[in-house]
Amino acid sequence: MRHGNLFVISGPSGAGKGTLVARLMHDVPDTWVSRSVTTRLPRAGEVDGVQYRFLSDSEFQDLVESDGLLEWATYGGNRYGTPRATVEEHIANGDQVILEIDVQGAFQVREKLPSAHLIFIEPPSLAVLEARLRGRGTETDEQIAARMEAAKVELSRKMEYDIRLVNDDLEEAACALAAYVNEQAEKIRG
Ligand code: 5GP
Repeated sequence: MRHGNLFVISGPSGAGKGTLVARLMHDVPDTWVSRSVTTRLPRAGEVDGVQYRFLSDSEFQDLVESDGLLEWATYGGNRYGTPRATVEEHIANGDQVILEIDVQGAFQVREKLPSAHLIFIEPPSLAVLEARLRGRGTETDEQIAARMEAAKVELSRKMEYDIRLVNDDLEEAACALAAYVNEQAEKIRG
């Protein structure tokens, strides 16, 4: 018997969260991934309603004021948030709900829903992280420098997460993530 759960996945930009979440959706069929809203502009190839819902500042502010977001944070000068209603519906429905959000958001979620499971994805090293960000080719040098600074802050909080997975070998990290999600989903509740 599986129960609905909330999993928060954080880690520096370039740690490979997106790839691991895609693998998790494939490996664990009752996974449901929340789609965030953001005031960031779409990158080349991003489509509204797929990676994010891209909102104006005032649309985002309306959601904040109507308590429509479970959490929200400012990252790299843009705001990002998790729509509350769909997340609550999917947990109640018995799904394994995944939020891929930054560390500020993760701790807001833990405050509001203490049963949430917090997972930190670590890159093998800062040098590997920077090489991955450069290889992605979607950020300017200035943006990469800002993301590396943000990465150091994020890494300093990794011990506050329930588990840490080093994304060195993708296959190993993906298996460990699926095993953790399945273990929580099948846990007997007292
Ligand atoms: P990116 O601009 O690379 O898509 O995302 C930048 C950062 O914002 C990443 O660390 C990502 O996990 C985080 N993020 C994405 N959506 C949300 C959200 O809804 N809430 C919070 N707090 N962070 C988010």
